[in-house]
Amino acid sequence: MREDTRRWIEADKAHCWHPFTPQAAWEAGEPLVLVRGEGAWLWDSEGRKYLDGNSSIWTNIHGHNHPALNEALTRQLTEVAHVSYLGFANPRASELAARLSGLFPPGTLERVFFSDDGSTAIECAMKMAIQYRQLTGEPERTGFIAFDQAYHGDTLGAASLGGVSRFHDRFRKHGATVTFVSGMEALRELPWEAVKGCAAVVIEPLMQGVNEMRPWPAGMLRELREWCDAHDVHLMLDEVMTGFGRTGKMFACLHEEVTPDYLCVAKGITGGYLPMAATLTTGHVYEAFLGEDDRAFYYGHSYTANPLGCALALASLDIFEAEKTLENLQPKIARMAELLAGLKAESRFVHEIRQCGFVAGIELRQADGTRFPVQLQTGSKVCLAAREHGLLTRPVRDTIVLMPPLSISTAELVHAVDAISAAINAVSTGQAE
Ligand SMILES: *Cc1c(COP(=O)(O)O)cnc(C)c1O
Repeated sequence: MREDTRRWIEADKAHCWHPFTPQAAWEAGEPLVLVRGEGAWLWDSEGRKYLDGNSSIWTNIHGHNHPALNEALTRQLTEVAHVSYLGFANPRASELAARLSGLFPPGTLERVFFSDDGSTAIECAMKMAIQYRQLTGEPERTGFIAFDQAYHGDTLGAASLGGVSRFHDRFRKHGATVTFVSGMEALRELPWEAVKGCAAVVIEPLMQGVNEMRPWPAGMLRELREWCDAHDVHLMLDEVMTGFGRTGKMFACLHEEVTPDYLCVAKGITGGYLPMAATLTTGHVYEAFLGEDDRAFYYGHSYTANPLGCALALASLDIFEAEKTLENLQPKIARMAELLAGLKAESRFVHEIRQCGFVAGIELRQADGTRFPVQLQTGSKVCLAAREHGLLTRPVRDTIVLMPPLSISTAELVHAVDAISAAINAVSTGQAE
């Protein structure tokens, strides 16, 4: 091991605290130190290279070290890195808000509120939804409806919308009042008593990510919109994962021509370069906040509408046009489906492939179709073994996530699926124990 690597790992183990990480096990392991990226590839501090199979936790869109993104960032740096959005406008934020709004049908999501992360985009939408009801004479409507196994982020409000018990149970009683339903049928069965106190329904459209990449039935989003209209409940879409092309269209809601009342985006917005998020809403919601000063939305963060993030987000949208990203993605989506069907056919441990656009979950189970015991950590073992074959990704339980940058080549996609196949073989024959 190189001297640098040793030093970085030592400092990490002595001082760092990683997200979603049982630290005792982490300290006992040997972390990869990632130092460089290029396209769909990442290099560790020992000079080994890996495909970025989960787009650096679902953020990267056009590949690492993209010349146009680098240029946009350095150009903005020569102007200014950060100025306050509290009391001031800035050029990139103005341009970006107009551009984001323009991605939706005219007269729908006209207003853009910037923040920093997926969680803050959700937090902001929750507060808007609650305050909107206060401003329109229904202050008692402070609750939310969310779906079982949902994931909407980790700040206290966003976490209370979460339905993954091992992450969310500890904090549930400290957040918003949330009614959980399993799907449309359960939603329709809710008595009015349970609905009338709710400000909004929140959903990850088309596919739940953290719930082991589980797609919703086709047409469900449209039905949900209709239900919301019939019950005067706002629709809040969490497109933090699905936004910016992942599902094959720019946003998941465009597949079913649904316009939400609140739309939250983050992860891919800067192409995966810097933290940045946006909550989009309608002119109708916005107008409720006009009038006396005390109607204003008193919410914000220090780095709201950071010019570097906005410059990157604009450049990323330019790349979508210049590189015809979505057009070129369609054959890759089909190829991914073929490759994964091949993987399923060749391995008796591949229980189910769940793909939505360019996002896929590969669920591993025992040959008899039952789940592996949790303590075996099969998913983690397979992902560790995949590293040996030049692929980085993380599982959700025993579902291996394949969500590479949209810019990945077909040959690289083949490499990724081959690595998963080799890793499954290694773990199932005990080579990786
Ligand atoms: C990642 C994610 C979030 C949280 O975003 P952060 O940027 O990690 O705060 C919220 N919702 C969904 C669907 C996500 O995938």
